[in-house]
Amino acid sequence: MTELARQPEPRALLTVDALTKYFPVKRGILGRTVAQVKAVDGVSFSLATGETLGLVGESGSGKTTVGRCILRLIEPTSGTIRFEDTDILGLDSGGMRRMRRHMQIVFQDPYASLNPRMTVGSIIAEPLIIHGVSNGDERNDRVAQLLEKVGLQPEYRKRYPHEFSGGQRQRIGVARALATNPKFLVLDEPVSALDVSVQAQVVNLLQDLQDELGLTYLFIAHDLSVVEHISTRVAVMYLGRIMELASRAALYANPLHPYTKALLSAVPIPDPKVKKSRIILKGDIPTPLNPPGGCVFHTRCPIAQFPICKDVVPPLVEHQPGQLAACHFAGAPV
Ligand code: SF4
Repeated sequence: MTELARQPEPRALLTVDALTKYFPVKRGILGRTVAQVKAVDGVSFSLATGETLGLVGESGSGKTTVGRCILRLIEPTSGTIRFEDTDILGLDSGGMRRMRRHMQIVFQDPYASLNPRMTVGSIIAEPLIIHGVSNGDERNDRVAQLLEKVGLQPEYRKRYPHEFSGGQRQRIGVARALATNPKFLVLDEPVSALDVSVQAQVVNLLQDLQDELGLTYLFIAHDLSVVEHISTRVAVMYLGRIMELASRAALYANPLHPYTKALLSAVPIPDPKVKKSRIILKGDIPTPLNPPGGCVFHTRCPIAQFPICKDVVPPLVEHQPGQLAACHFAGAPV
């Protein structure tokens, strides 16, 4: 087990340990593997029942791949994933299908994730049919109940996705995810495609549903401002690895990793009297096909020191109680 196992936590609903996902790059007529894209490279965390872990990073950081590996929508390369007492990666396809009753996903794009040829009622009823949860009148009642739960009228079941706004479509996506009474939801950038005014409504809905139904969330986002209010803890990812993992309060008040500090400096503060200096990172995120050695952040880090940052991988260790960072100089001013 990694350092994360030492965190004092209530019994975990989900434990991810040393998760990796490498995508092979194939070339030639024989399709030989010539390289690996290291999308996720040794990610570990756990989630207690009722908790929300915000998983944040720029595009290409591997956060979405982590969410999909947990549900085995893509197969991890290595690592372990435990949900309650079940080893997720040890399940066969039938076992995994049954497990998905308890673990569901809400996708980023509410325009692409709903089948335009199906009515809203059929979209929400589909998981019920797949999992044999209910039939006939019982199913209709459940669809009506789910629509009401996400703030939509039960009569909407006869309409098609194109008749709804982006925010309403995402509510339909949430209703579909809740159909089988899951315990855990991967929320894969659920508000990124929505207008700012609608984002807060959907986040509030997710929070209300969590309180009412005791749900546990992995909330994936590319920006720290989105997850601030909903997260219990936050993990910041960069090039397939977790750079910092801490309680929401600690991470926003006292970030330890230079990358977290840079992301936070870009979050606007709605008070014109408060001035803060933005930390501009040089260059773009490197390709995961050939990630930098040592600390993967060293090519952009404003406080990198050589040769240590280039040569030695900083482990993700606890620097403050419950606050872990992967940096040789965690907490140093940037
Ligand atoms: Fe920057 Fe070095 Fe810390 Fe990496 S280990 S974040 S390069 S100071």
